[in-house]
Amino acid sequence: MDFEELVRALAGGHIASPRLEAGMMMQAAADVAPREQKHLLEEMLEKRLAHYPLDKILGRRAFYKYDFEVSEDVLSPRPDTETLVEAAIDLAQKNDFSSVLDLGTGSGCILLSILGDCPQMRGVGVDKSRPALETAARNARRLKLEDRTAFRCLSWFDDNFVSVLGTGFDLLVSNPPYIPSGDIPGLDDEVRKHDPLSALDGGTDGLEHYKKIAEIAPLILKEGGYILLEAGIGQAADIRRIFSEGGLSPVSVLKDLAGIERCVILKK
Ligand code: GLN
Repeated sequence: MDFEELVRALAGGHIASPRLEAGMMMQAAADVAPREQKHLLEEMLEKRLAHYPLDKILGRRAFYKYDFEVSEDVLSPRPDTETLVEAAIDLAQKNDFSSVLDLGTGSGCILLSILGDCPQMRGVGVDKSRPALETAARNARRLKLEDRTAFRCLSWFDDNFVSVLGTGFDLLVSNPPYIPSGDIPGLDDEVRKHDPLSALDGGTDGLEHYKKIAEIAPLILKEGGYILLEAGIGQAADIRRIFSEGGLSPVSVLKDLAGIERCVILKK
């Protein structure tokens, strides 16, 4: 199968950017022997025509400065989240921070992007999903960041969360599950069927994880430390209120490239 055939097949299946996607598939299949290549391209095409997400077919997704391994075990990194990453790096560099904790690390894309730009820092990624942490650990090794990274299999709803992690972190970052449970059935198929539900479902009001994290954050942050939280659409004001009631001081709310309030920043 050549490039133009692939483009036509994707376009015929109503895939929105057939040339772009065909190019990415060709690139992913570039290094295999010709006969295997044909088989691999046909397999990728078949999955894509069944609306399996492209990044999960390729097993890779570009985010911020790197390519991350992704699978059905992790939420696919989204460009919206780069807003939080850039703000975290800026704060870490201006304050010469040395430690960062990522709550719900998934693929590790937030934590590893921060560590990649801040060579003075060490980081911990927490997730309750072991397969997600294994993916994050592989990403850390591939990016040669494993010496400055530790991963812990834990839930913030566990009673021993604070005692296991310890205190004194300079920076907390999180993109927790924030979709209201009732909105899950209406999500795009590519998200609903292929991103882990545990990374999406934020409970009845979408804010359940923020409420729990707001109890823990003041205990694990050091004095003068910051927390950066990704927000779902329309949630920023509630998140700011929840964390300020928990004792942290609001600093700012940042918009993503689509103009949506996407990142809430508070300080201890
Ligand atoms: N941004 C994701 C979506 O809209 C949700 C991620 C999350 O719940 N943190 O599909």
